[in-house]
Amino acid sequence: MGADDLPQGVVNVTGHDDDAGLPCLCKACLPHAASTAEAAGMQFQRSFAVTGTRVLHFWMLAELAGDERNVRASVAEALATRLARRRS
Ligand SMILES: [Zn+2]
Repeated sequence: MGADDLPQGVVNVTGHDDDAGLPCLCKACLPHAASTAEAAGMQFQRSFAVTGTRVLHFWMLAELAGDERNVRASVAEALATRLARRRS
């Protein structure tokens, strides 16, 4: 499942980040970002985690690709926690 398969109406909550060695994945920059990148000599691949109607895009180490399901699950959990905290 790629980012293009995301259901309509899901909001990209990824913050804009100029400083990261990796391409920014915020709402404005995502359409221009490649699906893979390299930083500090390491390979990364783009991934995302969905929580309710929110989606967070992030770079995952390519070597974790076999474990992507778990990585996405933990990112989604962290996102849910962050959103819940913001509401209270
Ligand atoms: Zn951006």
